Amino acid sequence: MTGHTPPQAPCAVLAAFENPRPVNAGGHARVDLPVPVSACPGCEGQGFRRATFENGYVYVRDCEGKAALRRAELYNRSGLPGRYAESSLELFQPHPVSVGAARAVALEFVRAWPAAKAGVVFVGRPGVGKTHLLAGIVRSLTLDKGVPCRYVDFTHLVNDLRAAIGRRSSPAEIVRPLVEVDLLAVDDLGRGLLETDYEASVIDELVSRRYNADRVTLFATNFPDDPAAEPSASRRRETNLSERDVRPRPLAEVVGERVVSRIRQMCRFVEIEAEDFRATAGPRPLRGRPRPARG
Ligand SMILES: [Zn+2]
Repeated sequence: MTGHTPPQAPCAVLAAFENPRPVNAGGHARVDLPVPVSACPGCEGQGFRRATFENGYVYVRDCEGKAALRRAELYNRSGLPGRYAESSLELFQPHPVSVGAARAVALEFVRAWPAAKAGVVFVGRPGVGKTHLLAGIVRSLTLDKGVPCRYVDFTHLVNDLRAAIGRRSSPAEIVRPLVEVDLLAVDDLGRGLLETDYEASVIDELVSRRYNADRVTLFATNFPDDPAAEPSASRRRETNLSERDVRPRPLAEVVGERVVSRIRQMCRFVEIEAEDFRATAGPRPLRGRPRPARG
């Protein structure tokens, strides 16, 4: 085959997705699809286009327009809340060192996909950016790599399970799609306490079925795996709180030892230490910044 570039009509859909911008649409993060996947103007949803070489040979190639539409659709189905529509790993501004390290872990996770076999548990206090990291990973994997992802809030998941149990219907309908998706991101693990052995067994089954199927799971949680390491004595002095007030309960205490030991097999724990972004947002003092030289 000769090395020349075959002449192609540019794909209008692809141009629209050059820089996809998710928005908050009714509480859900969404990319606006200019047309449904089935109506891709380049291929009418077939997924391939006819093209012609300069020498007149006609050949068939994949339609990038349909691929772009499909990625946007994957993002829209991921379940990301609307308030995280603008969260990307590129926009994540790490101040403290450990937050920057967590972002580096997230970027490397995305870069290595699909080779990444271990999941990640982002551990840190509320407001340090854990959800932003999860949302940024889901965004990159769906929009840039076309990976089916699901984001679930642990509290919502537990509430849905309870509702299903209350209706005397099987939780399987809730769990199955979460088992099957390529990447599952579980936010706020442990926020909704598991109250019964049955609830714990459903969560354990979800986690262990994903593990057995070699599927990667991400978590974010306020609860450390090793509570003895928390909190630092300096922080306790600084905030004048008693040890009991500051120390979060260990993760195993809120979701059960069985679930935690499974997660330890599947994931690495990445601790984030930072002040609450929501509390410290706003202009930071410019102390120590060199003054511009005056001419
Ligand atoms: Zn197409």
